[in-house]
Amino acid sequence: MFNSSSLWPVQPSQRLLQPLWDHLLLHHRPLISSPFFIVLLAFSCYVCFSVPFALLDLLGEKLPYFYQYKIQQDRKPTLKMMSKSFTTALYNHLVFVLPSVTIGTFILPSPMLPQDAPTLYDVFVDGLAALLLFDAQYYLWHFMHHKNPHLYKWIHAVHHEYVSPFSWSTEQLSIPELLTVGFWSNLDPLLLRCHPLTTWCVTVFSIWMSVEDHIGYDMPWTLNHLVPFGLLGGAPAHDMHHQKPNSNYAPFFSHWDRLFGTAVSLKRKYKY
Ligand SMILES: [Zn+2]
Ligand SMILES: [Zn+2]
Repeated sequence: MFNSSSLWPVQPSQRLLQPLWDHLLLHHRPLISSPFFIVLLAFSCYVCFSVPFALLDLLGEKLPYFYQYKIQQDRKPTLKMMSKSFTTALYNHLVFVLPSVTIGTFILPSPMLPQDAPTLYDVFVDGLAALLLFDAQYYLWHFMHHKNPHLYKWIHAVHHEYVSPFSWSTEQLSIPELLTVGFWSNLDPLLLRCHPLTTWCVTVFSIWMSVEDHIGYDMPWTLNHLVPFGLLGGAPAHDMHHQKPNSNYAPFFSHWDRLFGTAVSLKRKYKY
């Protein structure tokens, strides 16, 4: 749909990702063609991105340079809270996600891996489209699950156990929420006809943004500060959602909350 190569011929020099794609096809084809690859990629990103911020949480005031950016300094996650969030995520993946993918292998055709790599333009435009689509879907889902007490109690409340989020709590989700998020994350790139490499970039990037939402630190170099005009909500917006659950429903971008009047800003107590 957004593939630039369908509009005009792509010169070999424009395919900067071709050597990487050739390497993956030649040496890692069994891994990357497996339907389990995307699950492995997503879960390992969640773990790798969460660990540094968990260490920050455990060290706390011993690292004053970082601790000055902690949003709710009166609420610190304990090791017990962290391990509960992580074991919930691990259990959900082992008991529900992996069997769901296994069933999918009998129903769905194996993913095709094209010979050509996407251009960087394709990765950016298609990836942005996938993120925007997911953001709109989750905004609506999230809004409904806060407005309907039954949906909240049975599906979304698991994620709101903690008023002050921390990195591991990113995937403290009920099984229906995890499966819904996983369903969209897999379906959206297919609908937008993204290249597999673009889909994997979107996966890594969206997990990073989700973890950043939950780190509980408003650091000056996070994406919400690097991207101009407050286009991304980041940790300040999502931390506020955990404090005031009827605000900031969007996971990544800020436009839906601004448009529907659900955006609430964090009042900063510090300067940088
Ligand atoms: Zn959250
Ligand atoms: Zn919520």
